[in-house]
Amino acid sequence: MLNKPKKLDIVLYPDKRLRQPSVKINNPLDESIQQLIADMKLTMQNANGIGLAAPQVGKNINLILVDDGSGPKVFINPVIIYSSRSQNIFEEGCLSIPEVFGQVMRPEKVWLFYRDENNKFHFKISSGLEARILQHEVDHLRGVLFIDKTLKITQGTEKLELYESNAK
Ligand SMILES: [Zn+2]
Repeated sequence: MLNKPKKLDIVLYPDKRLRQPSVKINNPLDESIQQLIADMKLTMQNANGIGLAAPQVGKNINLILVDDGSGPKVFINPVIIYSSRSQNIFEEGCLSIPEVFGQVMRPEKVWLFYRDENNKFHFKISSGLEARILQHEVDHLRGVLFIDKTLKITQGTEKLELYESNAK
């Protein structure tokens, strides 16, 4: 039996846990994983987020949530196997780097394999906002943040400098 979902603390930049690579989930049906999914859904919705990766709640495992407006979707052990040559530029933010936004260029379309929360295996071709969020969240699993890739910070440069100075 799962517990009632609870809101988790979001790990904030420049916490080192955001830089650690995540590991594969062996059993998505494990109760601790199912509980984490429920807690992450609540946490993401509470923060008005459109994506959340497990490292952002302190768990370095291959689990992300994506909500492009059609409700939260769970991606376990996602692997992007193809990225389109065509790219576009979009403004991104991150729940772990509050009030900072920047333009990031990414492929428009990705093909990926993943498992859902019922451990069902899927192949998906994703485009639009979903592809954008997916790539941002999959980056989290490798310890990569949008500020590493940004062409230009459009909002919150001072905030970003403040976060970085706090780390020293
Ligand atoms: Zn993020």
